[in-house]
Amino acid sequence: MFDSSCQFAFFDYFRVPYAVQSALAVGNDARTSLPVNRLAVTQQSVGAPRSLLWLGPAINGATGSVGRLGRYQLRDFTFFGHVAADAAVRGTLDQLGRGWYPAERIFDSAGAQYAAVWQDANGSVFLPFDPGRVMQEFWSEGYRQVGRPAIARQARNAVLRGYYLARPALPRPVQLRLRRAFTRVQGRSTFPRWPVEDSLHNFCAWLSGLLARLAGRPVPFLDLWPDGRTWALVLTHDVETDAGCRNLDLLRGPERELGYRSSWNFVPLRYRVAEDTLRRLREENCEVGVHGLRHDGRDLGSRRLLAKRLPGIRDYADRWQAVGFRSPATQRQWELMPRLGFDYDSSYTDTDPYEPQPGGCCSYLPYFNQSMVELPITLPQDHTLFSILQNPDAEVWIRKAQLLREHHAMVLMLTHPDYADDPRLTRGYRYLLEEFRGDDTVWHALPREVAAWWRERDRSALRRAGDGWRIEGPASARGRIQFATADGLHPGLQAQKS
Ligand SMILES: [Zn+2]
Repeated sequence: MFDSSCQFAFFDYFRVPYAVQSALAVGNDARTSLPVNRLAVTQQSVGAPRSLLWLGPAINGATGSVGRLGRYQLRDFTFFGHVAADAAVRGTLDQLGRGWYPAERIFDSAGAQYAAVWQDANGSVFLPFDPGRVMQEFWSEGYRQVGRPAIARQARNAVLRGYYLARPALPRPVQLRLRRAFTRVQGRSTFPRWPVEDSLHNFCAWLSGLLARLAGRPVPFLDLWPDGRTWALVLTHDVETDAGCRNLDLLRGPERELGYRSSWNFVPLRYRVAEDTLRRLREENCEVGVHGLRHDGRDLGSRRLLAKRLPGIRDYADRWQAVGFRSPATQRQWELMPRLGFDYDSSYTDTDPYEPQPGGCCSYLPYFNQSMVELPITLPQDHTLFSILQNPDAEVWIRKAQLLREHHAMVLMLTHPDYADDPRLTRGYRYLLEEFRGDDTVWHALPREVAAWWRERDRSALRRAGDGWRIEGPASARGRIQFATADGLHPGLQAQKS
């Protein structure tokens, strides 16, 4: 259906079939002054051949990226990356053919028209940016560095280091006052929005609609969830202190009663983790994970600190047969996470301006960081909702979970037994469990099961089979084929059965 001059990250992610044909590269014959990649529609029934062209990372030995790094707006989404202005691409477009016109406008962070998505008379499309890099900027939170002077970043990082180091010594009321003070500042941030940041989702919806229009027919992809389920619900808990160990049943009790399983992350060297507690959780088919080594903000403080801590972390991972990691206070560093050696990490949130390290990957689906699966936390934490923002009930949880269900996304929730003496938390938690209890569209899974599925999905591909498609690889038994259509909807949003 498609041939591409190079790897096309968007299709890799959604498992859309295509073949790499390096001969298709536009830049190979040096006709254009910019590095242009091409995705060509194959077996096109009518009209002149159509392609998606996009500005790649520099090729042919050149280094760096083309365009200006910044924050941009296209339709209903904000995105970050290198974008080439109209003036910079005109010459290249002239070399690529005739009749190019700006089909959609791209605005810069000041709201001025800066660039465009171009189209020609045949319906080919030119993107003045690399869509794979755009996704990466969200996932890695690389966008947080965009448009901030280095000096501001360093100052911010110094404050953060101070916070992590001082935090264990601060009495809880002082910690809360500090966090609420942070909140007033962070509440003003316009990106990511809270409690829902749709930009990455809308970007994917826009691009998949564009590709289906380009192909002139629905585009097949490997469904996001197994067994025909349309969304995922994952329950996780971090146990912060001894009190959390004692109060475990305040959250585990209602789960048990309503038939749910969950994952429990413990801190090996902060309090005594009783073998008996771990055994009972395992007997109930729950999962055990590692929540840092000491919960002191040092595990991921630097490459050097991590190297010191890693043997201890790995030792407890093996003892507990844990395959998952949750960083204390969601401290995270994109380059360091895969070094932890776990199957999955779950330390990123889709959006959380209220954490000491604010930000968000904007994804409510799993994704990869090298070989590690990242399972983002996609509902606000109990602590944020009730202690910092003083919400009276769990309305935000329910509303966002319903929205994520509509988006065919993953609801991954983090609650703490340590705070479960707050009736707003226990009532709200039970309310949520009851709300989705009889829902037969949901895949209720442990994080390790979601990570395993995401790997199987990644190692599987769609292949032609007669007039249709079949799944090849480890996801063939449980996977389904879906189709993204031209109406601009996200693959997960609305898709027809194969
Ligand atoms: Zn914690």
